[in-house]
Amino acid sequence: MIRVGVPRGLLFYQYFPMWQTFMEALGAEVVVSPSTTRGLATSGASRVVAETCIPVKAFCGHVLALKGQCDYVFIPAIRSMTPRVFNCSKFLGLPDMVRAACPDAPPILDVDIDVNQGRRELYQAIYRLARLFTWNPIRVKEATVLALEANRGYVEQMSQRQQTPPEALESLLPVGDSREARSSRAASRAPFNGSYRLTLALVGHPYVIYDDYITHRLLSRLHGMGVDVVTPEMVPQTALEAAIANLDGRSYWTYEGEVVGAGGYYIDSGVDGVIGVLAFGCGPDSLMVDLVKHYAQEKGCPFLGVTLDEHTGEAGLLTRLEAFVDMILRRKRAG
Ligand code: SF4
Repeated sequence: MIRVGVPRGLLFYQYFPMWQTFMEALGAEVVVSPSTTRGLATSGASRVVAETCIPVKAFCGHVLALKGQCDYVFIPAIRSMTPRVFNCSKFLGLPDMVRAACPDAPPILDVDIDVNQGRRELYQAIYRLARLFTWNPIRVKEATVLALEANRGYVEQMSQRQQTPPEALESLLPVGDSREARSSRAASRAPFNGSYRLTLALVGHPYVIYDDYITHRLLSRLHGMGVDVVTPEMVPQTALEAAIANLDGRSYWTYEGEVVGAGGYYIDSGVDGVIGVLAFGCGPDSLMVDLVKHYAQEKGCPFLGVTLDEHTGEAGLLTRLEAFVDMILRRKRAG
């Protein structure tokens, strides 16, 4: 049986159930790299130039962590998922970049996903990917249908049950985070004893906000402070699109909804504050988070922008979080 490794980084939190279903339906065994650690991120960072964003550095570390664990490592080049809406340049050439930066990594299994090239080209790309496992087009078609269903179920589960991707992955598939991360999430759901309950929106890309190493466990820390946290995956797709149209006219970047759409939606729905998380050196994020920040100011909603890289100090981040939560609580107490 062919073993395919999936790095737990970048688009993993968006598409893992779909990828896993597709490959398992074709008879492959899927293995996932472990949660990000300092050692893993450092090994990835040593392979790329310093200016690269931390999610891409961590991704290279995840690829290297799969050495000896699999026959191939799956790295798709997702260029566009919606007509005339494009992805960040890092995603466009991801397989080539990893091939050049990590020549000692397992062979890369890649596929180009670009809906702008038309349906026919998309199907051909999927068949080319599947050729490693089978030449039977019927099996490929069945695997594709199952994969799309798995993706739909995953997305619906998150928005209907108000779950984050790590929570949805835990119940859907046995590949969630490490046991430590799970128990820290359970402990962080401790009831809040104060008289005011806060709801904060955490907006940013899933590969940043759900990576406990990159964020210094920001999500668990907020839960630990008694804050209810809402995230982009909990917003229905139609509401995200409406919020983007309201703030930005139309989407230019593929994953804009996670930041602009979710930020706008939560500000309009009256959350107590918004935390915008962006990766240092990220061009798209710097524009999008700024848009949310200005909208929050216009609506009088407290906003905290957090920029992260591998040098971000944990203590400084925690102090800022505590000050932000404290400021909102005082505001609420003052009526
Ligand atoms: S969108 Fe930003 S954080 Fe994401 S891969 Fe591109 S540069 Fe990095």
